[in-house]
Amino acid sequence: MVSMRNVGKSYGSNKVLKDFTLDVHAGEVISLIGPSGSGKTTALRCMNFLEAYDQGEIRVRGALLGYDIDAHGQRRRESERGIEEVRAPLAMVFQQFNLWPHMRVIENITAPLTLVKGMRKEAACKRAMKVLERVGMAAKAHSYPNQLSGGQQQRVGIARALAVQPEVMLLDEPTSALDPELVDEVLEVILSLAREGMTMIMVTHEMEFAAKVSSRVVFMEDGRIVETGSPDTIFHKPETDRLRVFLKRWF
Ligand code: ATP
Repeated sequence: MVSMRNVGKSYGSNKVLKDFTLDVHAGEVISLIGPSGSGKTTALRCMNFLEAYDQGEIRVRGALLGYDIDAHGQRRRESERGIEEVRAPLAMVFQQFNLWPHMRVIENITAPLTLVKGMRKEAACKRAMKVLERVGMAAKAHSYPNQLSGGQQQRVGIARALAVQPEVMLLDEPTSALDPELVDEVLEVILSLAREGMTMIMVTHEMEFAAKVSSRVVFMEDGRIVETGSPDTIFHKPETDRLRVFLKRWF
């Protein structure tokens, strides 16, 4: 579904992603874990070109996303297809929800459908109500985001991502902006999507949840993947001292 090969990203002289290589297959739930600043969010944002990468290549369903850059920074190839088209199977859920405050919940969901996907208003409203029902938020369709709790806003954020009928969902620390008592309602929705077979890549600091929901866990440090494996391997049989030290904080 998504393939990242030797992807690198620098901010000025700060190289925050180094040789990041990951293949995501249909139905997988992959959690990216690691210390703060290790490059998890950058990897996720490069995956759908919210950040332009400066080394390597990314493919979505086989199609090149943007370009392919060699280790010397030279472009080897440009994609024949536009970025919007190539990343269309992906949808992102943001840490800070990113809902438009001046729009009602339902408009937050229909706007991308009508403006970007060219859907008619009636069909967009129908689909919006369906995804709101899916996350238990249909009753709040006509509320404004600031009338909702953080957990409810994030459920709307998930509904908005679902509305474009993505093949892969990217979730960037979906619960880290929430008060502790609101985390579970969001994790419940993510878990139910995973059980339905949705392909997901999630950056998270919720280790117990990552252990429960993931088919594969990727541990990053200093811009690199240090270990990859099943939740059992990563959380109970870590191979590197770096991962052992990291996990000591949680278990
Ligand atoms: P956290 O768990 O704290 O969210 P992370 O593992 O997701 O961290 P990133 O957010 O990917 O880490 O950041 C990796 C590094 O890149 C950090 O040193 C960060 O300061 C830097 N960085 C991220 N975004 C930018 C930016 N827009 N401009 C400059 N530096 C940035």
